[in-house]
Amino acid sequence: MDTNLPVSSLPRVVIIGCGFGGLRLAKSLRHAPVQVVVVDRNNYHNFQPLLYQVATGALEADSIAYPIRKIFAGQKNFFYRMADVEQVDPATNTLRTSVGSIRYDYLVLATGSLTNFFGLESIERNAMQIKSIPNALNLRSFIFQNFEKALLTDDPAEKQALMNIVVVGGGPTGVEISGSLAEMRKHVLPKDYPELDLRAMQIFLVEAGAELLGPMSKASQADAKRYLDELGVLVKLNTSIKKFEDNRAYYSETKFIPTENLVWAAGVNGAEVPGLPPEVVARNKRITVNRWNQVEGQAHIFAIGDVANMVTDDMPRGLPMLAPVAQQQAEHLAENLLRLLRGETPKDFAYKNKGSMAIVSRNKAVVDLPGNVHFNGIFGWATWLFVHLMTLVGFRNKVVAFVDWAFSYFSSDQALRLIIRPFSRRDVKDDKGKKSAEHRTATPEYNPTPPAIQTPAAS
Ligand SMILES: Cc1cc2nc3c(=O)[nH]c(=O)nc-3n(C[C@H](O)[C@H](O)[C@H](O)COP(=O)(O)OP(=O)(O)OC[C@H]3O[C@@H](n4cnc5c(N)ncnc54)[C@H](O)[C@@H]3O)c2cc1C
Repeated sequence: MDTNLPVSSLPRVVIIGCGFGGLRLAKSLRHAPVQVVVVDRNNYHNFQPLLYQVATGALEADSIAYPIRKIFAGQKNFFYRMADVEQVDPATNTLRTSVGSIRYDYLVLATGSLTNFFGLESIERNAMQIKSIPNALNLRSFIFQNFEKALLTDDPAEKQALMNIVVVGGGPTGVEISGSLAEMRKHVLPKDYPELDLRAMQIFLVEAGAELLGPMSKASQADAKRYLDELGVLVKLNTSIKKFEDNRAYYSETKFIPTENLVWAAGVNGAEVPGLPPEVVARNKRITVNRWNQVEGQAHIFAIGDVANMVTDDMPRGLPMLAPVAQQQAEHLAENLLRLLRGETPKDFAYKNKGSMAIVSRNKAVVDLPGNVHFNGIFGWATWLFVHLMTLVGFRNKVVAFVDWAFSYFSSDQALRLIIRPFSRRDVKDDKGKKSAEHRTATPEYNPTPPAIQTPAAS
């Protein structure tokens, strides 16, 4: 198939992925003497940090996504093809995609990351993940579907498994989604489900390490734990979920938490594209790059953002998989590509850490800034809201998010709890949009004995 890209005398820079890195790079090249071709399987840019708000009904999906063509309207050197990139062929400078072949002069991998299930097959098959907008909408539907089912059963163990939610992974995503679910339990579910005894509903946050928010300061870790305790989230540290079958999330061979709802936020791998030499694929499937973001041994291929493994003296395990890293690398690479075109030597990239933050619930967030500055509470919360509002793409999205947040804040309610597209695990698609091989078909059996974990009922 022909991708019908216009023939040009300008060098062609092909960017795979229009996430934080790809979008910023394509924008930064708007005045450059190059033809910019972006290929993404989705026709929208997805603001991943707010996915959990879509999953918990706080924001509309449309307010955290923006159409790629609209972002680049008016950029004359920009071309977009909606396609899945299947293979790179460095020998012929060609990509094989789901809509045909694309030739490149320079190629930039900005493909981001995929959920890492660490080879735990039962979890990959049965858990909910939160990497994409369809994932977030599925999670929202699934939780409300299970509440509808909980009304229909008289079996207390079955009822509790339908209402219990286990979130695995104590990083920012796990902390944010657990806090948001606890707020939903407090403010939304009692209004919608007065027939259910919500004291039986438990929200667990399970983390394999000894603390939450691993890379953040001790003060932020302690504050986040305290906030979650206050919200009634049952935080289990030094605990790993190894298996999720028959509505049981096992944390040892015999001990389990009864639940239908397991959210896996425990790790990611680089979203590599096949075709590169195996020696450039580092740990977590990230692509090894030098300080110019150039793939080891490949003069014309670069990688930025989550998929790029750039090791520095102070970060021997590679730069963190964060939006600012992707954006800064994109801007730097745009300048380096111009240097290469002028026959100059590119410059080394240096990451400027501008801080990190996580929100737990209304008026409760933690913020770390460079220079050991830490703050929390309502000031942290306001900072978090402001930064996320400002970084959302598109004026309409900023306004819609602001209105949704203001409505939730003043009404203690969330408007978005429709089950528009009922979710079945049989419909699960992986991150590449393909249907997963096998899904549970049997009606789950519940443990008739009391739940393995005996904890105080949530308020
Ligand atoms: C739930 C969640 C919360 C997060 N919260 C924060 C936060 O608070 N702060 C923060 O800094 N970071 C956060 N992150 C991480 C942040 O989103 C990533 O670091 C950032 O998105 C990386 O940007 P990127 O450009 O490398 O990749 P992405 O933004 O992931 O973009 C990758 C793009 O490539 C496309 N793509 C991938 N493979 C192919 C292919 N083969 N063919 C075609 N298209 C392809 C995808 O469709 C996607 O559009 C969060 C991530 C998640 C999942």
